[in-house]
Amino acid sequence: MNECIFCKIVRKELAAYVFYEDEKVIAFLDINPRSKGMSLVVPKKHYANFDDDLPTSIVVVKRAMLIAKAIKDALGAIFVDIAIMPSQIPHFHVRLYPIHDFKKDFPLVENKPMTVTEAELNDVWQKLKSIEIEIEEEKKEEKTVQLLPKKELENKVVPTNDVSSANWEWIKKKFARG
Ligand SMILES: [Zn+2]
Repeated sequence: MNECIFCKIVRKELAAYVFYEDEKVIAFLDINPRSKGMSLVVPKKHYANFDDDLPTSIVVVKRAMLIAKAIKDALGAIFVDIAIMPSQIPHFHVRLYPIHDFKKDFPLVENKPMTVTEAELNDVWQKLKSIEIEIEEEKKEEKTVQLLPKKELENKVVPTNDVSSANWEWIKKKFARG
């Protein structure tokens, strides 16, 4: 039997704070969140890397976007960080980090897990269980992604909204040329 912790949650062998489920995807709270309402969106099928099953990963990412929007509204967050990163758990997943305070919650991956009580988790869980997610029928054929022509890319201006000037300097150092 597969001992993966996420598979155990999918099979309901392990109780989790599940607040969304359909035939392909399940979403639940992280019990050691890095921000209030931190959640994982997980395919029901077990595989480790996003490109081990790209079509399923695309579905998971699409669901994660819709779930992130619903979480943002349900918790009144100002933003939701969406991340796909290597993990100790070899089961592909998308992490959602609701941001309630840009100073405190940013950047979330560097934050330490918070200590939360069961009552606090339950409170968030109740709010998220009531969210509704509308899913469009998935089309059989995904369109090929059209990349921007090189010239257009060079002329693109990076928006600065919601980023403090300190962060903007850091971002410029990281991505700007010359
Ligand atoms: Zn698994």
